[in-house]
Order: sequence, then structure tokens, then C-alpha cells
Amino acid sequence: MRRLPKIILKEGKEKPILKGHPWVFSGAVKNIEGEISSGDLGEVYSSDGKFIGLGHINPCSQIIFRLLTYKKEEIGYSFFKERILRAARLRENYFKNLTNGYRLVNSEGDFIPGLIIDRYGEIFVIQILTAGIERVKGILMDILIEELSPKSIYERSDVEIRKEEGLDEVSGLLFGEEFSDLIEIEEYGAIFKIDIRKGQKTGFYLDQRENRSQLRFISKDKKILDCFSYTGGFSIHAGLGGAKGLTLIDSSDYALDLARKNIFRNRLDRIPFNLIKGDVFQVMRGLKPEYDLVILDPPPFAKRKGQLQGASRGYKDINLLALRLLKDGGYLLSFSCSHHINWDLFHKTICYSAIDAGKKIQVLKRMGHPLDHPVNILHPEGEYLKGFVLRVMTD
Ligand code: SAH
Repeated sequence: MRRLPKIILKEGKEKPILKGHPWVFSGAVKNIEGEISSGDLGEVYSSDGKFIGLGHINPCSQIIFRLLTYKKEEIGYSFFKERILRAARLRENYFKNLTNGYRLVNSEGDFIPGLIIDRYGEIFVIQILTAGIERVKGILMDILIEELSPKSIYERSDVEIRKEEGLDEVSGLLFGEEFSDLIEIEEYGAIFKIDIRKGQKTGFYLDQRENRSQLRFISKDKKILDCFSYTGGFSIHAGLGGAKGLTLIDSSDYALDLARKNIFRNRLDRIPFNLIKGDVFQVMRGLKPEYDLVILDPPPFAKRKGQLQGASRGYKDINLLALRLLKDGGYLLSFSCSHHINWDLFHKTICYSAIDAGKKIQVLKRMGHPLDHPVNILHPEGEYLKGFVLRVMTD
């Protein structure tokens, strides 16, 4: 094996990585032996010279090292093949006949830091978040093509965090046939049109699949308000569950246009529906308190730690507004996808909304990540999605 650069940690700084956390921050490094550049493979050692693991190095990033393995092994085709197929098997077993849209590889959660692959039927969408993964893109493509036979592979690495890795934003077809502007997936009996090239994330919020499918069981004869609806994920399942009215709010015309298409595609246009383009905070203030079920699925209000205070206020405000729009006995599904907002803080924030709204609330259920978005138990940074199903009473 060729000689790799060595990162030697300061005393005591080996503990998290030895326990299973996959990152080394630049502040934990005592010295580096050998030349390093972004994306190189490297080894990590404790201050007393014990080998800890192999991974990708990036001197441009605060996360200077991302662990791939604790073994001294070749990091090539077979290494990544084993990890990708292990990830693929989990999904295939579980989602067969349920959906053909799911996350095939979830970065640290599948022990391949920096790699996301979403699967929409026969089309794979790849998102590369680190310089290390960028270097092995060719190998990864070969593995996907040889082992999983996609029709097309499209790249959606047009995300800002690539800057922190010294990478440009890129997107485009990498392999196979061009496909139409809108493709379709089936999700628990619902059909969704997805724009892989222009949609948010890789085209769809796959992470909310299980949570939106739950609406099937509680939407019958209910008037639904779907805030931050995007292309109608929650509303479509609510409609299929027998909702009697659907109101969707989103700031994006494009998202609402697709939501309309999804409503027609699922033959839900027989239900009265209303698409409102606007800012949820403002639109909600003008609505009547006539809803049986409100969904709040906002974008992350706290992208950075410094935004925590403003974010909590945002969550408190929308939850308060939603509580005021609910009829007695109504349900609120309230989500946060900011990973800086932990369960405790999110819970407290909703408590403040409840107190201000003067409502009694029952917590029926907590909601989180689906199985195709696994999280390494020792990497809590990977967990971001938190939701409560609440029942709201006026006295
Ligand atoms: N629930 C959706 C995903 C929501 S993503 C699903 O299951 O597919 C968040 C959405 O909020 C995006 O579509 C974005 O356009 C919209 N958005 C962001 N800020 C907004 C605001 N202030 N008012 C209304 N919509 C907003």
C-alpha cells in the first residue's frame, strides 16, 4: 500500500473518533506528516502514535478528516461496492412494492461520508458533498452502473456547502439516457411528478415519505391546511385518505404548479382545493379558524448555530398561528428540519406556542427520519428531522 499522509491528533482528541464519531475537526490536530491536498486519503493517529483509521482529508474544511474505516485496507472499487450494496439491500428489502423513490445512500448514515444517492425508479441522482468523494466519482459511477444498472445517473451537486470543500456547484447528466422534464414515482399508492433537474434537493423530499403517508389514516373528512407544501406531498396523501378540502401554501409558483399537476394526476381534483402562493407567516394571519388538520413543514430556519434565537421565534410564531387556525380537537403536524434545533428545544418552542394560544395539547406521536435516511448513532449531526403529531383542544 502506498504511503499516506498522517494526521496526528492532540492528546485526548482521539476519544470521539475511537468511539465512532466519523469526523476530526482541524482544532484537534497536533501535526500532519506528509503533503496533503483536498480529497486525499489519509490516516489518523492518536498523539501516542496508535493508528486509528483511514479516511478522506480536506485541509480547506473545518472537518479536516472524515473516517471511512478503522482497518488498514485498500479504499477502492471493492470497498465502496460493499458499502453501496449494503445500503442498497436495506432499501430493496424494505421498499419493494411500497415505493420506487428512496434514498439509496445517506452519507455518514451509510458510512460513506459525503455521498448521497437518491433513486427515482431507474434514474439515480447523485450528490457529492466532499472533495474526497469527488475524487472517487469515477469508481462510484462504475459501481452503480455495473451493480445496480440504472437507466440514467444525474448529478445534483448544486449545493452551497460544496464551497467549504473547495468545490464548485455542478449538475448534469453523467450517464445514460436523457429523461423527460417530469418523471413519476409511486409512493405508497400516491403518484408524484418530480423535476430532477430543477426541483428542490434532488427533486423531492424523500425524507418525509413515512410521515406524509401517515395522513392516510387521519385525514378522512378533514379540512387540511398544508403549509410549506412544496409539490403537495402531504396533501396528496391526505386527499387519498379522504380529506374533504385541501389548502396548500408555498412561496414557490413552480412548486404549486407541480402540486396542481399532482392533484390531477391522483384524481383528487374532485376534492375542493386551493393553492395559495405567498409567505406562510402572512397568509396564515388572513385565514379563518376552520381547519381540522394543519401541517407545518418549513425549510430549516436555523442553518447555523448563530441563527438559533431567530429560528426559535420563527417556529414559535408559525406554531402559534397554526394553533389558532385549528378547530377544537384538530390535529397539528409540526416539523423542524434544522439540526441545530434539538428535540428538547423544539418541544419547548411548541409549548410556548400552546401557552400563548391558550390551548390544551396532547402529544400523539413523534416523527423523524425514515429508514432510507439512517443516522450513525454516534453522529448526531446526521439527525435533523423532528416532528410532533399533536391534538389540540380549546378547553
Ligand atoms: N412538505 C413538503 C416539503 C416542504 S419543503 C413535502 O413533503 O414535499 C419547504 C417548502 O417551503 C419549499 O417548497 C419552499 O418553497 C417553501 N417555503 C420556504 N419559505 C416559505 C415561506 N416563508 N412561505 C411559504 N413557503 C415557503
